[in-house]
Amino acid sequence: MGKYFQDLYDAIFSTLKGMSVTIKHFFSKPVTVQYPDERLPISEAFLGKHKLDQEGCIACSQCAKVCPVECIAMDFERHPGKVVEWKKFTVNYNHCMFCGLCVETCPTHVLHMTKEFDLSEYDRSNCLVDFLTYRGLRPEDYETIEKAKREAEEKKKKKAAEAKAKKKTGESGDEKAAAKKAKKEEDAAPEEE
Ligand code: SF4
Ligand code: SF4
Repeated sequence: MGKYFQDLYDAIFSTLKGMSVTIKHFFSKPVTVQYPDERLPISEAFLGKHKLDQEGCIACSQCAKVCPVECIAMDFERHPGKVVEWKKFTVNYNHCMFCGLCVETCPTHVLHMTKEFDLSEYDRSNCLVDFLTYRGLRPEDYETIEKAKREAEEKKKKKAAEAKAKKKTGESGDEKAAAKKAKKEEDAAPEEE
């Protein structure tokens, strides 16, 4: 009989204990976040998806060379006037480990890492992200190329003219020296009786 009441007491006590925890949390502020509608603040040191300022990129390929998993790929063509014709600048997020080495290496500071972390995709091929905002040459690039070509041509002509003038000066200098030498020999020769 004593055991019966003991079990009854234990059952009521444990139920009340459990309910007290439930009731306490029922009135406290929830800690769950309704993602993606709500998001927790992200640490300043967090490294997420890349961002490229394409106009400032000099196509030095340093970021691609330093990447330990070789997940940056780029394709471009250089033109006069330091114009870069872009064809491809991709990061493969199937391999990227978000180490940030590419960002640290960039000499022009045009490659950044944002706080974007939601990169999940149903198809792996979508993890290959192209960061180009434009491809090929823009109208202003054609102008820059033409200007650079004209300047190079002018420089070449100027150099050729300078070389020609230098050569002419050298020749006249030789003539003068030869005349001087001949006169000297004439003076030194014994007079005929
Ligand atoms: S963060 Fe690291 S792994 Fe990712 S692209 Fe940059 S260098 Fe490569
Ligand atoms: S290191 Fe910077 S400047 Fe060089 S190719 Fe990469 S993003 Fe462009």
